[in-house]
Amino acid sequence: MNKLSSGAIAMTGLISLGVVNQACTPAKEDTQSSPPNFVIIFADDMGYGDIGVFGHPTIRTPNLDRMAAEGQKWTQFYVAASVSTPSRAGLLTGRLPVRSGMASSRRRVLFPDSNGGLPPEEISLARILGDNGYRTAMSGKWHLGHKSPFLPTDHGFETYFGIPYSNDMDRVEETRGISQITLAEEENFDAYNVPLMRDNEIVERPADQRTITKRYTEEAVDRIREFKDEPFFIYLAHSLPHIPLFRSEEFKDQSLAGFYGDVIEEIDWSVGRILETLEEEGISENTLVIFTSDNGHWHIFDTHGGLGGVLRGAKGGTFEGGMRVPTLIRWPGQIEPGVIMELGTTLDLMPTFCKLADVELPDDRIYDGYDLSPLLFGSGNSVRDIVWYYWGTEVYAVRKGEYKAHFITQLEYGTKTAHFVTKPESDVEIGRTVHDTPLLFNLNIDPSERHNIAGNHPEVIEEIRRLKKEHLASVEPVENQLEK
Ligand code: MG
Repeated sequence: MNKLSSGAIAMTGLISLGVVNQACTPAKEDTQSSPPNFVIIFADDMGYGDIGVFGHPTIRTPNLDRMAAEGQKWTQFYVAASVSTPSRAGLLTGRLPVRSGMASSRRRVLFPDSNGGLPPEEISLARILGDNGYRTAMSGKWHLGHKSPFLPTDHGFETYFGIPYSNDMDRVEETRGISQITLAEEENFDAYNVPLMRDNEIVERPADQRTITKRYTEEAVDRIREFKDEPFFIYLAHSLPHIPLFRSEEFKDQSLAGFYGDVIEEIDWSVGRILETLEEEGISENTLVIFTSDNGHWHIFDTHGGLGGVLRGAKGGTFEGGMRVPTLIRWPGQIEPGVIMELGTTLDLMPTFCKLADVELPDDRIYDGYDLSPLLFGSGNSVRDIVWYYWGTEVYAVRKGEYKAHFITQLEYGTKTAHFVTKPESDVEIGRTVHDTPLLFNLNIDPSERHNIAGNHPEVIEEIRRLKKEHLASVEPVENQLEK
């Protein structure tokens, strides 16, 4: 029987948005003889509609599709922010980026001239797992501070190989004025003087981005082979499909979906290499692999930007297309295959991994994640019923169960917005609208956020206002790392 369909049917009865239940104890991890390995594969700016199993009609993603068939496809999975730096801070700490100073409404990500980064007192997944017997390694885009003490090796990763910020930064002067699409089509990687680092040393500059996906992957494969006899955590964070696009020779002009399709198909190849390596080493059944993206597609780059599928909005914004990401989890023989429609977020990986690794979460700070393991093992109802949609340090929207209220809306990243705003501009200039009565959508019925039903549900709006107020009271002011 087709596992995906049987799983989908089995999971339908479990959908119960609005129920908070963290008490459920998963049964299957008890059968683990040793703590599970974790592999996070994180794409950069991949949209909700960019892979086969999430509906793209002409991009071939057999390995990602296989993850869905053998594992779980999460259809309502979110990131902590709709741009890179805060999204990554949330993923690795389990805390909303506003709590660590890694969110700003004025400078939304770190740049090469930034002096801040993820503060040393923040505890990353690599740190907590590393302190509990795990081997740890990262390859790919970091974007949480490119100077010590903010580098991956300062935050618990034993090794690092990658570009420390976005692949379009450090643009060389002579190429200003030439479009990033043209530069990509000419394969002009020299136009971006981005460094490639090994641990805390620059080993290549500019990084040859044409082979970057392949090299990140081989690095991760090498570390898996090295660590195979011990528990490990590998974080493989691709720099692509963030523009400028690049792909290696073998993938050039292969996809029906053009250049962007080539790039996604190479990332899919990378996923296949990881799965195949785990199989060759005989450790698939003790390794949880999650694939997701740091934020939605960057729609302003024509066919070099991806697609949000049925979702409204894109990278940088707080409509669904900015923050709901295509997510797949595979752990053969352990998790219940199927389509999961309950809510999950990258903030939940910290408590979930800690639970699976039998590691206590520190109790000296606020965590914003939930243990998703009941849903992995098919033995629980929803564990999360709320999603915060932050724009920098402000809550623009809140999802509670099936309802989402937008208090403020704004044009997306890279349109005429606060992309590089360093001084306040008027709301009109940045396309910002404050809604006295929030827009309200039922995301289960209306995933494209087209039908405002605020007038029908004042009580829902009141409840969400109350939750927002309570939440904001829990956020303590900290030093802003992105404005340093
Ligand atoms: Mg991104």
